[in-house]
Amino acid sequence: GQCSAACPESAISLRSEIDLVRREIEDPEKIVVFSTSPSVRVGLGDAFLDKAGTWAEGKMVAALKALGADYVFDVTFSADLTIIEEGCELLSRLLTASGPLPQFTSCCPAWVKYVETYHPERIGNLSSAKSPIGMQGATIKTYFASKEGLDPAKIVTVNVTPCTAKKAEIRRPELCDAGNVLGCSDMRDNDYVITTKELAQWMKEEAIDFASLSDAAFDSILGKGSGAGVIFGNTGGVMEAALRMAYQSLTGRPPADDLLDFEPVRGLTGVKRASVHIDGKTINVAVIYGTANAEKFLSGDISDYHFVEVMTCPGGCISGAGQPQMHCIPVVDDIRKSRIGSMYAEDAKMSLRNSIDNPQVARVYRDFYGSPLGTLSEKLLHTTYHKR
Ligand code: SF4
Repeated sequence: GQCSAACPESAISLRSEIDLVRREIEDPEKIVVFSTSPSVRVGLGDAFLDKAGTWAEGKMVAALKALGADYVFDVTFSADLTIIEEGCELLSRLLTASGPLPQFTSCCPAWVKYVETYHPERIGNLSSAKSPIGMQGATIKTYFASKEGLDPAKIVTVNVTPCTAKKAEIRRPELCDAGNVLGCSDMRDNDYVITTKELAQWMKEEAIDFASLSDAAFDSILGKGSGAGVIFGNTGGVMEAALRMAYQSLTGRPPADDLLDFEPVRGLTGVKRASVHIDGKTINVAVIYGTANAEKFLSGDISDYHFVEVMTCPGGCISGAGQPQMHCIPVVDDIRKSRIGSMYAEDAKMSLRNSIDNPQVARVYRDFYGSPLGTLSEKLLHTTYHKR
């Protein structure tokens, strides 16, 4: 299309990984399982349409099925799982001083690498929870494989993400936990990451007409996320999801509307700060995007903060480096706002808005993981970091 002709560099660097995934699909022995990150569904349409940020979840799933996916799962499911694990870790740091505060989010690999490289003294502040795709891959090769009677060695996990840094994340040597648990030493939790842009390019090569695709639904058992899982793609989304979960955990009541739509952490300000009062406790939070903003924040006194979300890309993953451009127009704030608006609109429409209420997540704990921060959860859903 118009965009790939004008951006030859990205087209060249994208080639090989699509071909590798194609080859896996052509191999009749392999079971290829795709998982889509929250932001892909509000970015993919930009490669085909004249309107930025169109909600395209159903078409995205249909496209992956047309390309040969055996299963299509949703990373919003594992975003909910992340919130439960990371939220329980935060509550444990708050209530039992089990680790240093503030706790930092760990779902952005570029931020994790930044801390490892430039602030190794802060590694203990990073949540040990894996990123949503990290949890998804480990859960697919263990829980899903055994539930469906599939050979985990034949499963190929492909994540479609807005993020180029995720390609390096899945190659971290620590992220081979499913293989360790199953005794297959050369198995990685996740095999491939392709970006939204690569998916769009692949669809164009296969002459898949985006506009005429009918909506398709995710496959079940790792296919359903809450609204909290959806808004993970926005700056502030992880924080909002965590606060919904923390409120309900601490009080036993669902959060009221002003916490369900928690405006102080929304929008395109580089550093947002807020305090939330839950059950007699005050939780001080900060939401930051960009490493320059994070560096400034870290250079101040941060001892009053309890939880800090950092995403490297402006506005969060919705404008990750792997998201397509509409007619080669640079991704400016208006486009970011359209993508963000699309996610919050979907969240507001959903009846399931709190990760803690997700029935598929409850089922994976009941049937497999046991409890958050339990032995198996720690093995498969948490990780370690190292000074670089
Ligand atoms: Fe990737 Fe950017 Fe999202 Fe970080 S903020 S996970 S670098 S897309």
